[in-house]
Amino acid sequence: MDMSDEVTKRCTAEEAVEPECRPSQGALTVERVAEASLPTEHGEFRIIGYRSMTSDEEFVAVAKGELSTEEPTLVRIHSQCLTGDVFHSLRCDCGQQLTRALELVEEAGRGVIVYQQQEGRGIGILNKIRAYALQEQGQDTVEANLSLGFAADQRTYQQCAEILFDLGLCKVIVMSNNPQKIAALERAGLNVVDRKELDIQQYESFANYLRTKREKMGHIL
Ligand SMILES: [Zn+2]
Repeated sequence: MDMSDEVTKRCTAEEAVEPECRPSQGALTVERVAEASLPTEHGEFRIIGYRSMTSDEEFVAVAKGELSTEEPTLVRIHSQCLTGDVFHSLRCDCGQQLTRALELVEEAGRGVIVYQQQEGRGIGILNKIRAYALQEQGQDTVEANLSLGFAADQRTYQQCAEILFDLGLCKVIVMSNNPQKIAALERAGLNVVDRKELDIQQYESFANYLRTKREKMGHIL
């Protein structure tokens, strides 16, 4: 038996298998509930509501353009930040990132922002305010979460990735500087083809916050 032939045959067979895009965890655990158009200051979008089939969590996806498995598509997993997103707080850069992501999707004419309601990296708004109070006494954003008895980051992204699958995506360009989010999307079975930086205006009021994210949480900043 000619071993080299056997090896060649096997390699060719492996190459022939296209890296398929399918959820690594099997069946989706989110359910699409409703969809409507959403005109915004940044452009015309669609809003699609999802609910988790394993918890009482709800999500929305704001999407634009034709979504297909073939086309590399801008995506962002945005974690709810009431203070940043709604009140434009300058304790963090969340509000600016959300705005910038919407602008980029509008410019590209195609993309999805999954809005995940895990306020304060999963600790909830009241605990986030408690964490802010601790930060006023000198703790950083990670130390404050730990002081309150939480992990530095309580979030998971599996179901956000499932929403991207449900919307028909495979190849994604992730608008994020959080390596955990990028890794989570890859683990879930999506093909992360690129990362897009969200350029934001720097403010002294969140300089320490960004430094902590870079130094303690590995963010690419
Ligand atoms: Zn924020």
